[in-house]
Amino acid sequence: MSNRYDVIVLGLGGIGSAAICHVARRGHRVLGIDQFSPPHDRGSTHGQTRIIRQAYFEHPDYVPLVLRAYELWREVEAATGQTLLEQVGLLEVGPGDGVVVPGVLASAARHDLAVERLSAADAERRFPGFRVPGNYAAVFEPTAGFLHVERCVAAHLQLAVQAGAALQTNTAVASWSRSGNAIAVSTDRGEFRAERLIVAAGPWAAHVLPALGVPLVVRRKPLYWFAAAGGDAATCANWPLSVAAGCPTFLYELSQGVFYGFPQFDDRGVKVARHSGGETVADASTVDRALDAADCDAVADFVEAHLVGLARRPRDHATCMYTMSPDEHFVVDLLPGEPRVAFVAGLSGHGYKFAPVLGEILADLVDAGETKHPVGFLGLDRFAGST
Ligand SMILES: Cc1cc2nc3c(=O)[nH]c(=O)nc-3n(C[C@H](O)[C@H](O)[C@H](O)COP(=O)(O)OP(=O)(O)OC[C@H]3O[C@@H](n4cnc5c(N)ncnc54)[C@H](O)[C@@H]3O)c2cc1C
Repeated sequence: MSNRYDVIVLGLGGIGSAAICHVARRGHRVLGIDQFSPPHDRGSTHGQTRIIRQAYFEHPDYVPLVLRAYELWREVEAATGQTLLEQVGLLEVGPGDGVVVPGVLASAARHDLAVERLSAADAERRFPGFRVPGNYAAVFEPTAGFLHVERCVAAHLQLAVQAGAALQTNTAVASWSRSGNAIAVSTDRGEFRAERLIVAAGPWAAHVLPALGVPLVVRRKPLYWFAAAGGDAATCANWPLSVAAGCPTFLYELSQGVFYGFPQFDDRGVKVARHSGGETVADASTVDRALDAADCDAVADFVEAHLVGLARRPRDHATCMYTMSPDEHFVVDLLPGEPRVAFVAGLSGHGYKFAPVLGEILADLVDAGETKHPVGFLGLDRFAGST
């Protein structure tokens, strides 16, 4: 394998796998480097599924990006012949004056998106797997759904390799530096050089971007799979919390926190987790993956109160990580003083749905130093003077 490339992509997880696909498809000689062999379960992109939705309660400016992501997900499906995005809809529940329901309605109004308002009773009638507190509001977004996340990473890498990308997996990057007009990337398997570098290191971003100047906090995020009470999930394909019965993905904003989950589609069960909170992780490489009893109890309390017919004790769990930026919005930009280096960081627990459009943006940034996508609100500028 030659060690000189047009572009090196550091990190082939959720976003790096999409970035290398876009760079390779533009005809560049590109090398992707990862310390593991993606898709893997050591970073932020595992655990079967990720929600994808359009009426973005966090900020309406994400909507044009997610609409482009939908187009690109469908293109990846067509190119690989696989189903990646299941458009099962999303039920969101919360106080009428909270963050989620008003945020969904504001984004939908601004971008003319189809969202249905439901009373608590209507929501329970339509989706009998859920309990919705009478004083809460609900919205249903029919175009939302979920992505099969490991399958998506594999699909992007497959397309990248088909377009000529080289992959250097199980290879840890120790450091990188500019050397004249090239970037030299030093790894435990030797040095690689390229004209440009894309960094998509997820929860390791602070290690490989030490000069970023934005504090990133990594949080431990457990996930749980629940089976039907008194029954094997495998035998309950038609119960109300299954895809087969028309159950959507779901997200509840409650005083105890924000909880979300996915309908059952295989014998692993119904996946549920808490979006808010999470212990700070000092080193992503040594995150504690044992069952977190306190978090598990909080999720089980949510399950008992709001989902119909699930056993309280999870049948399986996994541990993932969020990388929080100071304002919980993504950071996507060129590195200050290093116009040959583009990066994405601080996806704050909601970035995967955007993977293909972020890949396209990173490819634009290393190609032309700019992108036509409206990502000004995600740039480093917003932190100027605050860090
Ligand atoms: C539990 C959980 C639920 C989530 N739910 C949703 C959701 O419903 N919808 C949504 O849109 N998003 C969701 N997210 C967020 C989303 O999954 C992440 O933002 C996204 O997947 C992160 O991708 P990444 O490429 O930044 O990180 P990763 O996938 O972790 O990739 C980083 C890669 O860089 C590699 N790397 C790092 N440092 C080095 C080095 N020095 N040398 C070599 N390789 C290196 C790592 O090995 C890794 O493969 C969720 C995240 C979690 C944890």
